[in-house]
Amino acid sequence: MKICVLVKEVPDAAVEKRIDPSTGRMDRSGEKNLNPYDTHAIEAAMQIREGGAVPVEEIVAVTMGPESAVRALHKAVSLGADRSVHLTDAALAGSDVAATGYALAQTLRREQPDLVLLGQQSDDGECYTIGAVVAEHLGMPSLTQVIKMDIESDAAPSLRCERQAEYGYDTVKVSLPAVISVGDAINEPRYPSLKAIMGAKKKPLDTVAIGDVEIDASKVGGEHSAAQWITVKAPPQKAAGMIIEDEDTAETVEKIVAWLDERKLL
Ligand SMILES: Cc1cc2nc3c(=O)[nH]c(=O)nc-3n(C[C@H](O)[C@H](O)[C@H](O)COP(=O)(O)OP(=O)(O)OC[C@H]3O[C@@H](n4cnc5c(N)ncnc54)[C@H](O)[C@@H]3O)c2cc1C
Repeated sequence: MKICVLVKEVPDAAVEKRIDPSTGRMDRSGEKNLNPYDTHAIEAAMQIREGGAVPVEEIVAVTMGPESAVRALHKAVSLGADRSVHLTDAALAGSDVAATGYALAQTLRREQPDLVLLGQQSDDGECYTIGAVVAEHLGMPSLTQVIKMDIESDAAPSLRCERQAEYGYDTVKVSLPAVISVGDAINEPRYPSLKAIMGAKKKPLDTVAIGDVEIDASKVGGEHSAAQWITVKAPPQKAAGMIIEDEDTAETVEKIVAWLDERKLL
């Protein structure tokens, strides 16, 4: 079995996310990291391999992003991927979700995976949609919010998945190849060993441009994206809170009760 894992480079959690008003795109100037949700997808791939129900010949990390995104691929490899593919091309800049999903699907098409795994959401765009778009282009079934996954190897391998739904849990059997986005409750990602971190840069990395994976240039990039950024408004400032210094507890309690009562919270 060949598993491809989609991974994305995102601004580090400590960096305040903001849109650059001059371009209408995310300001990506700060510290960046591998999208934390994608570490669960890599771990899920590793657990399928280590589970041994089916032989996993290859785990391939795939990303679309600028030059710097190579660091997210190195991290993915240090967490267990065998090699990585980096789709990078100036023509892709500004792509919306539909264009990004199409471009990733074209990149995956060349790899012919039996299973595509991805995170539930990116920590910056938070669209939760790439899995569905990729699956549609590849003509594969797709599941989201999967929190348990077992390989069933009858005549042809399939997956028995548990997915988190609003009303409880769905159990779904899905035939392969398939695109599965995993919820962060699926596992506890491992930490990379120092040896794996040091060795990650030596693992094969295939850098491809749009022509290499037959991406139609008229379907990608900001100019050709159906969603166009118009404007952004900062969330309204929160009113300052009220601090009650406790000198006399009875009086403090009275003040808190009065405060709650005034707002009809009692
Ligand atoms: C008008 C417009 C312009 C934009 N311009 C840019 C831009 O210039 N640069 C930019 O980076 N984004 C840009 N975006 C955002 C970009 O479209 C989204 O980041 C992208 O479509 C993926 O959506 P998401 O990150 O919300 O993914 P989600 O659907 O929330 O992510 C789910 C999972 O999909 C996978 N995934 C998502 N994106 C990638 C990727 N690139 N490579 C590999 N795996 C991935 C990850 O596994 C992730 O966990 C733009 C969006 C709009 C609407």
